[in-house]
Amino acid sequence: MDMEITGQGIRQRQTAADTAAREERFMEELRLARLGDDHLWIAVFGYRVPMPMPAEDVMFDIENLRTGPIVGCYICEQPYSDRRANRACQGERWRHPIRK
Ligand SMILES: [Zn+2]
Repeated sequence: MDMEITGQGIRQRQTAADTAAREERFMEELRLARLGDDHLWIAVFGYRVPMPMPAEDVMFDIENLRTGPIVGCYICEQPYSDRRANRACQGERWRHPIRK
């Protein structure tokens, strides 16, 4: 899905190819984090979006930003803390066999 990010001097059009490249890069970062038992910290923002979604030009800006950033580990799904950041990620061990 193509989308457009605008707001406060920012305007960025993202194509499906941009999204695919970004997801590929993220999957490599995820693979490397799992190999090192590292957390993979992400920030989540919540935007209010209109329904039905418009066919194009989905706006993500300060006008519809509702929450975030919420920082946590993508792998273990735990919120960030200095203490947790200094320990190995234990995320998937209880859910899946260790794959290295
Ligand atoms: Zn983690």
